[in-house]
Amino acid sequence: MGKIEGIHHVTAISGNAKKNYDFYTRVMGLRFVKKTVNFDDPNTYHFYYGDEKGTPGTILTFFPWEDIMTGRRGTHMATEIGYSVPEGSLEFWLKRLDKENIIYNKPSSKFGDVYLTFLDRDGLKIELTVPETNDERTPWVTAEIGEDVATRGFHHVTLTLEDIQPTADLLVSVFGYELAKNHTNRYRFQGPNGEKGGYIDLVEAKGEQRGHVAGGSVHHVAFRVKDDATQLELRQILEDRGLHVTAQLDRKYFRSVYFREPGGVLFELATDQPGFTVDEPVAELGTHLMLPEQFEAQRSEIESRLIKLD
Ligand code: ZN
Repeated sequence: MGKIEGIHHVTAISGNAKKNYDFYTRVMGLRFVKKTVNFDDPNTYHFYYGDEKGTPGTILTFFPWEDIMTGRRGTHMATEIGYSVPEGSLEFWLKRLDKENIIYNKPSSKFGDVYLTFLDRDGLKIELTVPETNDERTPWVTAEIGEDVATRGFHHVTLTLEDIQPTADLLVSVFGYELAKNHTNRYRFQGPNGEKGGYIDLVEAKGEQRGHVAGGSVHHVAFRVKDDATQLELRQILEDRGLHVTAQLDRKYFRSVYFREPGGVLFELATDQPGFTVDEPVAELGTHLMLPEQFEAQRSEIESRLIKLD
């Protein structure tokens, strides 16, 4: 059966592009992997942040819309993005968040792991978790954020659901995940690649208000498939289960299909290939405005409408 390799990327919605860029590159210390436009709306940016190469499992992307209203966390949506960080690094992060006037909660623990929760400039909930076993991934480092404290990539993504069962069924019987841990209404699922692929936490919140996806919300969660054949195979299985799956779309850096999972969250299956070096060398990732071919002819108009980041 087609295999899910773990989380590929998470896409969220932000307000002001410059604030978003400053927060994720400077405050969080992620690499700006790609500056492009929303392929469905080329007058707005699409930003990608991750590790040096934009390795799947580290990529957080944003559609910045200047005048977007603020969303509301609730059911039928992904509500938390968790990164893993090294042991002993939370002190550093607490001081940094303080200095940047960022709203956070005091460190707490779940499933035995200490974590710190805070909100980005648009209210998106981010967590830094110190996992039980050291995360061996090589981090992107900056002048202010060294290897001893830098984020390693995704630790988990949380979906808040009215009823977890239909989503749990999909994760287990199609994606090959299994229930790893459970505490009260939080169910932690682990993929075929184990903790390396990132956990999916399902939180059951019966009767809670339905969320509204807008500024400061996750738009969709993308899962990794190694190639087109695996994607096609999974696409067929999903269709056979009665889900409406899009045709394959070329997203330039990966190829994607999308569907709404039965709990209401938009899911994507994204290929590892071709990756972010398809149009810029590793050393120059994120330094040019990259446009898909269909928009090259309008480059100067598009550039003039986009906010300057520096
Ligand atoms: Zn996506």
